[in-house]
Amino acid sequence: MIDISIDMLSVGNADAIIVWLKDSNNNSYIILIDGGNSSDGERVITHLEQYIFPHVRESAPDLIVSTHHDKDHIGGLIPVVRHYGRRIGEIWINNPADHISSHSYQSLKESFRRKSAQKQFQVITESIANIEELIGIVDRNGITRKPALYGQETQNGIIKVLGPSRQFYTSLLPGMDNIEDYVSSEATYAYNSIFGEASVNEHAETNSPCPIVDEENSTSATNNSSVILQVVAKSNDKYLFTGDAGVQAIEDVEARVSINEIYWLDVPHHGSRRNLSSRLIALMSPQKCFISAKGTSKHPRRALVNCLKRHGSSVYSTHKSGSLWHHRGAFPDRNDYSTATEL
Ligand SMILES: [Zn+2]
Repeated sequence: MIDISIDMLSVGNADAIIVWLKDSNNNSYIILIDGGNSSDGERVITHLEQYIFPHVRESAPDLIVSTHHDKDHIGGLIPVVRHYGRRIGEIWINNPADHISSHSYQSLKESFRRKSAQKQFQVITESIANIEELIGIVDRNGITRKPALYGQETQNGIIKVLGPSRQFYTSLLPGMDNIEDYVSSEATYAYNSIFGEASVNEHAETNSPCPIVDEENSTSATNNSSVILQVVAKSNDKYLFTGDAGVQAIEDVEARVSINEIYWLDVPHHGSRRNLSSRLIALMSPQKCFISAKGTSKHPRRALVNCLKRHGSSVYSTHKSGSLWHHRGAFPDRNDYSTATEL
C-alpha cells in the first residue's frame, strides 16, 4: 500500500506539482513534475524545504519529470536543478533535438529567431532556450537523464509514462518541408492561449457545458507532446498527470492502455476546454480533479469545470483555493492549510 501526498502549487497558468510517495516500510520517494515559470523555481524549493525534506531521509527530488518545454512548465525547473544539482536522482525529459536531424533543429531555431521581434514568437523562442539550458545543467551535473516516453517506468511499476509513445512524439515534430508552417502555428497557438480571451455565454456554460467542451478539441503540437504520467497509490487507485496534453495525445494513450476510472486527475492545460472531450471525461470519470490556473475566462473554462462536475467529479483549482494539497495516508499535519473549496 503506497501512501500519497500531492502538492499542486499556486503558480497561475503554469504547473508545479510535488508528489510524495511512502511505502509500508516508511521509505519515501519524492517526484517533482514541472517547476512553473522561471520565477516560480524559488517557491518550489521553499515548499520542498518547508513541507517535505524535514520529514524524509531525502534531501533532493528522487525524480524530476519535465512534461514539455513550454516555459510555464520547464522554466522553474532550471533554478531547482541548479539548486539540488547532482543530488537529484534522475530526470525524465524529452528533448526535441534528440528526435529530428540537427539540420532540421537548427532551421527550426533559426526560423523562430528571425521572427523573434514579433511578440507571438517570443514565447516559443524562450521555451526552446529553456530546454537547452536545462539539459545543459542536467548533463553538466551528471544527473541521469532518460526519455519521458511510453515504456519509461520505475522498477516497481508504480510510476509510469503512458504517453507520448516514441512514434506519437516524433509525429508531432516538424519535418524539413513544414518547418515554417510549424513555427507559425505553434507561435499563434501559444500566443492566443496566453493572451487570448474567450467570449463566454454564462447560461450555456452552466446549463449545457459538455457540448461547449466538445466544440474545440485541438491544441498545439508542443502541448500534445506533454508527458502523461500515471502513479498508482493507496488502494491501487490511478493518479494521472497530464501537463498540457490534448485530446489527440490522450486518445493515443487510450489506444494502448486503460485510462478508465481515474481516481485523481491533474486536469490538462490549466482547465482549457480544448484539451478534453466529454467522451474522455466519461471514460476516465475522475473522482477528484485538480486544476492549476489563474482564473481567467479560459483557464479554467467554466464549461469544462461544469462538464467534469456533471460526470461526478469534485473539482478544485489553485485560482480559487491557492496551493492545493491532496493526501491519503500518514503525512505530517499542516496547521497553515485549510480545506479547499470545490468549484
Ligand atoms: Zn501550460
